[in-house]
Amino acid sequence: VARLREVADVREWSSDLPPDRESLTALIGDAEAVLAIGGDALVAAVLAACPNLRIVALASAGYDSVDVDAAHTLGIAVTNTPGVLHETTADLAFGLILAARRRIAEGDRYVRSGSWERVPYRLLFGHDVHGAQLGIIGYGQIGHAVARRAHGFGMRVVHYSRTHQDDELSTWMPLDELLATSDIVSVHVPLSDQTRGLIGERELRLMKPTATLVNTARGPVIDETALVRALREERIGSAGLDVQSVEPNPDASDPLLEAPNCVVLPHIGSATESARAAMVDLAAANIEACLAGRPLLSPIPGS
Ligand code: NAP
Repeated sequence: VARLREVADVREWSSDLPPDRESLTALIGDAEAVLAIGGDALVAAVLAACPNLRIVALASAGYDSVDVDAAHTLGIAVTNTPGVLHETTADLAFGLILAARRRIAEGDRYVRSGSWERVPYRLLFGHDVHGAQLGIIGYGQIGHAVARRAHGFGMRVVHYSRTHQDDELSTWMPLDELLATSDIVSVHVPLSDQTRGLIGERELRLMKPTATLVNTARGPVIDETALVRALREERIGSAGLDVQSVEPNPDASDPLLEAPNCVVLPHIGSATESARAAMVDLAAANIEACLAGRPLLSPIPGS
């Protein structure tokens, strides 16, 4: 904000709760630029009600929070922040793989609850990560960063994306084959009309009963109701989720939170000091470029 105050008048939304659409429209008003950190409120009606808007600069890799088609029709550019958070998010995806397969969060809760009175032979048995097959769905910046980490664990890596291409880290595989043969499936596609519900009942039924499903992409890519059912019926082994279909979600009785072998985090994939600083810096730099009439640094396709 301090940086942007050097080139513009800045109005801030200072609450930790996202603005509703009316408040957002009023806040943007006659502004030429918006720097947005999350939420899903930049719908066509909001964009259309802000006549001077030239750029929506997102401090995120995903851009499902903006109606991009509407923005482009209205002549509003949209930028995101690739290249500065993929390693950080891959770290967390790997943390979820380890936590879910080795029952780390569950073990912590067990010790803290005072239940560790005996040493049963099968106490918190999990499944190995090293030597397992990792299936990556969406093989972009984060998918590649996860693949690099997997090689340190001696894993076999396969991936699925619309582009059929192998590289030195991973072999392309059709989605159904990836789901049926992988021990760990990690999801890294953007949320779009094509990927909403990509992993549903049918796909979960293809997976191994010991498999782990990890999602650091966007909640709606996985059918959460089907996932809860698969975990309860032990059709898959475990899950690690950084993202959910409803965020934030203070409902402690949500069936997802009662599902067995499921590690759930509050969307903290990019939440490190340095990644978040780099993200807002890049978003601010995009706004500066736009206001000065220079080329944008990281426009999304079509902007
Ligand atoms: P990216 O570099 O754009 O990679 C996306 C990949 O998904 C590409 O390989 C793309 O390949 C593939 N893809 C796109 N549509 C597909 C489809 N319909 N079916 C199969 N594959 C498809 O993006 P990224 O930086 O890796 O980030 C991925 C997503 O992670 C973001 O969009 C964001 O939603 C999420 N994210 C979450 C956090 C967090 O805090 N949890 C942090 C950063 C990002 P093809 O075009 O060849 O299909």
